[in-house]
Amino acid sequence: MPLKQSWLATANSPDCAFPLNNLPYGVFSDAGEDDPRCGVAIGDRILDCRAAEAAGLIDVSDAALFELPFWNDLMEEGPAVWAALRARLTELLADGAPEQAAVEPLLVPMAEATLHMPFMVSEYTDFYAGRNHATNVGTMFRGAENALPPNWLHMPIGYNGRASSVVVSGTGIRRPWGQLKSPDHDRPAFLPSRRFDLELEMGAIVGIASDGPITVAEADANIFGYVLLNDWSARDIQAWEYQPLGPFQAKATATTISPWIVTKAALEPFRVDTPPREVELLDHLKDCGPMLYDIELAVTLAPEGKPASVISRTNYREMYYSSAQQLAHHTTSGCPMNVGDLLGSGTISGPTKPERGALLELSWGGKEPITLDSGETRSFLEDGDTLTLHGAARGDGYIVGFGPCAGQVLPALKDPYKR
Ligand code: MN
Repeated sequence: MPLKQSWLATANSPDCAFPLNNLPYGVFSDAGEDDPRCGVAIGDRILDCRAAEAAGLIDVSDAALFELPFWNDLMEEGPAVWAALRARLTELLADGAPEQAAVEPLLVPMAEATLHMPFMVSEYTDFYAGRNHATNVGTMFRGAENALPPNWLHMPIGYNGRASSVVVSGTGIRRPWGQLKSPDHDRPAFLPSRRFDLELEMGAIVGIASDGPITVAEADANIFGYVLLNDWSARDIQAWEYQPLGPFQAKATATTISPWIVTKAALEPFRVDTPPREVELLDHLKDCGPMLYDIELAVTLAPEGKPASVISRTNYREMYYSSAQQLAHHTTSGCPMNVGDLLGSGTISGPTKPERGALLELSWGGKEPITLDSGETRSFLEDGDTLTLHGAARGDGYIVGFGPCAGQVLPALKDPYKR
């Protein structure tokens, strides 16, 4: 599919993250004002959807879609309205649109806007579905022979995370305190994490509720869109707490998502198959069409006051399980899923070292620190470091970008129990 031409010139640039082909959904407010509302990114502007609905330019449902500063109301309307809205937005912003003069005053410069959480997160589940990541971490934690747990090739392993600490790009991330246990000591100590890390992931957003087991095809249909997701992880807390129930406080501090929901419709041209299966999956998890996406991913790290270095480059197609398979597995027990549920893909790592999506892997547990462009080295994150995830699918003369997913590491509190 070629670039769709817009009357807004900045949207037609081949390296613009937000051409007419994309139309991602976010929530914004004007600089210095506290009036968050739904908007669509186009070129270097945001179309104010609340204003467009009030002006009668958007009228795709009997219900008002943009009274609240979240996209959940649109998701609740279902796929016919999702498609009608996308078609109407495309019409309004396409080259030659008769509505251009009416729409132009509703565009806000993106550079002057503040971006907020694009949707209300109902619940958050994180998976462990990247084979290279699971193999690397398993090798470090349990040795090469037991790297992949025996269940790993049969189901996407996950844990129930916290919706309460999902934050939007730009939010500062406070280094957590927790129980750390060194092999040299009998007792753990309560200290700030010394091995604070990132995880490069994609987040899938459930747009249709379900109550009971659903198939992989149904799960794919129920996904509304995707964001970039950084599952901040305190490795020293994790190593001590994780057996037998999995991560808990190590990953409860914060999860950062990118501010724009890139819809499944925008990603349609970039679908790819999951990798070949080493063992046959049980019927209810079998692949039924290409359900991963060819999305180029990168991670940059900028020490405070210094330029950013690229520390990883990989691709979402490296995952072993698709988000649809993860969602289908999540429902097998009868677990109801809600509109606004967020599913983290698991860390995305490619097969070679520069493609690893976490510092734990890049520095091999701290044994092989990486060198940044500034000459500094890193095994784990230092205070003041800004971590940014980048993602874009590459089309024919255009890209479908996600916008940055960034967070700066703030120093631990001096005493977290001091009131
Ligand atoms: Mn994770």
